[in-house]
Parts: sequence; C-alpha cells; structure tokens
Amino acid sequence: MSVHSLTINSKRLEKRIADLAQIGKIGETGVCRLALSKEDRAAVDTVKRWMEEAGMTAYVDHFGNLIGRLEGENPAAPVLMMGSHIDSQPYGGRFDGTIGVLGAIEVIHTMVERQITPHIPIEVIAFCDEEGCRFNKGLFGSRGILGKLEQGELERTDKDGITRAQALLDFGCDPDKLQDCVYPEEKIASYLELHIEQGPVLESLDSPIGIVTGISGPLWLTVEMNGFAGHAGSVPMPMRKDALLAAAKVIAKLNDIASQDPGAPTVGTVGNIEVFPNSRNIIPERVAFTVDLRDIDIERRHRYEKELRQAIEDIAGECGVTYSIREDTNSEPRYCAEPIMDIMRQESSAMDVKAPELMSGPFHDALALSYVCDYGMIFVRCKDGISHNPKEFSTYEDISLGTELLYRTALRLSQNPN
Ligand SMILES: [Zn+2]
Repeated sequence: MSVHSLTINSKRLEKRIADLAQIGKIGETGVCRLALSKEDRAAVDTVKRWMEEAGMTAYVDHFGNLIGRLEGENPAAPVLMMGSHIDSQPYGGRFDGTIGVLGAIEVIHTMVERQITPHIPIEVIAFCDEEGCRFNKGLFGSRGILGKLEQGELERTDKDGITRAQALLDFGCDPDKLQDCVYPEEKIASYLELHIEQGPVLESLDSPIGIVTGISGPLWLTVEMNGFAGHAGSVPMPMRKDALLAAAKVIAKLNDIASQDPGAPTVGTVGNIEVFPNSRNIIPERVAFTVDLRDIDIERRHRYEKELRQAIEDIAGECGVTYSIREDTNSEPRYCAEPIMDIMRQESSAMDVKAPELMSGPFHDALALSYVCDYGMIFVRCKDGISHNPKEFSTYEDISLGTELLYRTALRLSQNPN
C-alpha cells in the first residue's frame, strides 16, 4: 500500500508531529519535555486543541493525563482506549510516544470526517510521565488511572527537590482528587498503542511496521554502596573502602550476567550513577546506581537477578563496603491479546504491508493497561534502532502506514465489541 491510497490524512499527521517537535526543542531534531514541566504543559495544551479539532471532547485529569473522548452509539459501554505519551527524556527524540498520541488523534479525525460513529466510545490518552526520568518512576498516568500507584509516589522528588505532588499542583492538577480519576476496570474494553520500535529489528527485516507480541518485563533496582572517604594521596590501597571501585565491579558483572546466553534477548544496563563526594582527590565514600534488567523469559530474569544479588554481596565483602538494594519496578512479561493481533494480521495483509511479529524490550503505557484489558501494539521502524536520543528517526511514510493499521484495527474493535 502506498501513502497515496491511505484512508488517514498523512499530511495532517506529519504536520502535527513536526509542530509538536517545536515544543521543548533542543538542537535541530531533539526534544526535552520532562513530565509536568512547562514544556509538557505547552505540549498538552497544543495536543488538547488538536483533539478538539478532531471532534473529541478533551480535558486534563488530576494525574496530568490528557484525555479526549469520541462518544459512541452506546455511551455507557466500556471504551476502546488508544494512546501513548508526549513527555520525553531530557535528551530525547521527536517520535517516542508522540506518534502514538498523534496517530490516535488522526484515527479519530479520519473517522469523524467519514461520519463514522463508533458503537462504543473511543478515548485517546496522552499519559502523564511515561518516561519516569524526572521522579525515577515511570508509567505514572497509566498506572494512576488504574489505581495502581504505590505508597509514597507523590513524595518522590526530582533533582531539584520538587515533589511529584508539588509538580502536579504546578501543572494545575489536584493531588487530593486522584481517586476521582481512577477508571473502574470494566470501563476499558481494550487498549491500542502505536509506538516507534526503539530497536533495530524491523529495519533488519526491511519492514515499515510490525505487530507486537508482548512486552518484556523490566526490573529496576537502585543499589547503594557505602565505603569510607579518605585522602586519595595518603590511604594505602589495601586499607581502602572504595565505594566506586565496588560499584564498577558490579557494573562489569551485570554485563557478564546479561550476556551469558548470546541467543537470548536479555539486556542489563546501569544508566545512572551518583558518586559522593565526587571529588578528584577523595576516595569515594558512597555510590548509588540504577540497574535495569529485562527479559521476555521471567524465569531466566529471576535467575539472573539472583546471580546479580549474589555478586553484589561478594563484591561488597571483597571491597569492605556495605550496600543496600531498593526495588523500584518489577514487572513480568505481558503478552498482547491474540484476537487483536489477528485483526492486525488480517488488516496489514489487506494493506499489502509486511508486518512481522516481534517482542518489545522497552516498556510502554500498554504494560500498565495489560493488567486490566486486552491490548495490542503496532511498532514503526526506526532508523538504526536509535531512540532516547535526538537522532531518533522514523519516516513519515512508515508512521502513516502504522497509523493506517491503527485506524483499521480501531474501526473493527469499536464496531464489534466483544
Ligand atoms: Zn515511549
């Protein structure tokens, strides 16, 4: 199928993606729209206007989610939900999350123009703080509407000491009214998300889009190691309790653990490290770092986690430091609904587009939704698999094909509720 024979309006979609990329723009192609920031608010206001243009009613809930709704013939029926996020990493790209929100708006805009009234209501959501980089815990809005926030989440602080509760207030939300914004489980019929792949698989298969089979489960830990500070010039090597040395050994060990089976999709990463007092001539006393471990096979991930915890214990002993491990996130792999994947298979072949099936390593808002309803995801090829980087790139042709498949899938799910 060529872009010229699409039902959706790819030009309009392209323009909105390009316009949104101007908000929080960094450099030529990057964006920085941290959750609940001024830039995020400006983006929400803009996208809200597009939702209204597309024929939806739209509002921002107290979790900071932007929600648009197209009424169905049966307004009381559980909704078909579509969405993603428009917040970004501090040094992020233009497509991560945004194509899922703007693609879903394009789907609705097309339906309304074609005077199609869905049988069940359809809602499009730009979920608040999917990325999790500001308060070190993601999927805030999507877990929020499902009543899945954990104790203490509102007290989490960003690097400037601002709590999430304060950030919500500054955003115009009322943290005391969160409970009013929770969806009863039976209110969501199914969930669809369009997203860039953020990996190199589709490109290697020469396919513009792919059908996601499931999301692998992330485990997030924060490890803190405590040694003893001393003068870098005077404390002899055997007498040191160097917390950074211990951390370095753990980081190298995590890499060994995650790569021990070259055929497996397991990945392990330390992406953030803080050193105290962080001075050239002081032996590091305290180091905190994050661990991100993912796998589609939960048994294997559990086994690797055990190996890592043992390694931390051994290395701490060897380096004379103490340690603590905090678990920030622990999710199992979640598989997409077979009936939705079936619709996507049929529709992509009707479009004459090759859409191979693949797992998602990164997690998405769909992960939170997977616990309450059937869900399906469409991936769009991205150049060299690059994401969370201003160099992130997908062609508008590929994004349009993904949006067309989203349109066709949404049409079938909203006309034939099960
Ligand atoms: Zn994303």
